Amino acid sequence: FKPGQYIGIRLTVDGQEVRRNYSLSAPPNGSTYRISVKREPGGVVSNHLHDALGVGAAIDLFPPAGEFVLAPGERPLALISGGVGITPTLPMLHAAHEQRRPVTFVHFARNAAVHAFRDWVDDLVARSPQARRFYCHEQAGTLPVDAHGRACTDLLARWLPQARDMDAYFIGPPPFMAAVKRALGELGVPPAQMHWEFFGPAAALET
Ligand SMILES: Cc1cc2nc3c(=O)[nH]c(=O)nc-3n(C[C@H](O)[C@H](O)[C@H](O)COP(=O)(O)OP(=O)(O)OC[C@H]3O[C@@H](n4cnc5c(N)ncnc54)[C@H](O)[C@@H]3O)c2cc1C
Repeated sequence: FKPGQYIGIRLTVDGQEVRRNYSLSAPPNGSTYRISVKREPGGVVSNHLHDALGVGAAIDLFPPAGEFVLAPGERPLALISGGVGITPTLPMLHAAHEQRRPVTFVHFARNAAVHAFRDWVDDLVARSPQARRFYCHEQAGTLPVDAHGRACTDLLARWLPQARDMDAYFIGPPPFMAAVKRALGELGVPPAQMHWEFFGPAAALET
């Protein structure tokens, strides 16, 4: 699969067939897929995966799909995620590491307790001289972060490469995506170099 893609899963919950998409959250290795699922309050599939599906259980998969993938090139990359939107950016960060492509990884989380994959990102960035990472939490906590608050132009202006000719990939809840898209526009990132994907429960589209 290509870094950034997702797989569909199909399973039966309470006698109903349900399907959901989940981003592949580990780099391709030729033999396994990893997904990482946030428990949504009241969510049918996420709670079922957490509570009822054990190791060794079988589920139906659809092949990897999705256009939110790293375009080949040499321009510096910005990978900007909010919450569980971090998942597809992890294989992308790994691909940038392998290609020795300059990359700025920015992650916004509500607080330290729900900041996923911090150690994995820290370890990879420590081994990638051309990579930098910045974390921002909405609520103060015990672990150090680079800022507190929400995604905004000021933070991205500080953290992204000064030459705005970059390929920017961003993903997260809809209000987060709107804020990042506006900020990147204000910073002068060309629209053709902005890439995003809608990510989240289908219900979010109906509100
Ligand atoms: C391309 C893509 C990639 C994704 N990757 C990931 C990933 O890597 N990790 C991840 O955790 N998720 C990911 N998602 C989201 C995932 O597909 C599911 O939407 C998510 O897990 C919620 O599914 P659910 O069945 O638990 O919740 P649902 O049962 O679909 O409900 C979702 C939320 O909506 C509320 N809700 C349900 N029905 C209504 C209603 N009628 N009115 C108001 N509220 C309602 C529920 O209370 C719940 O909070 C991705 C989505 C897409 C499109």
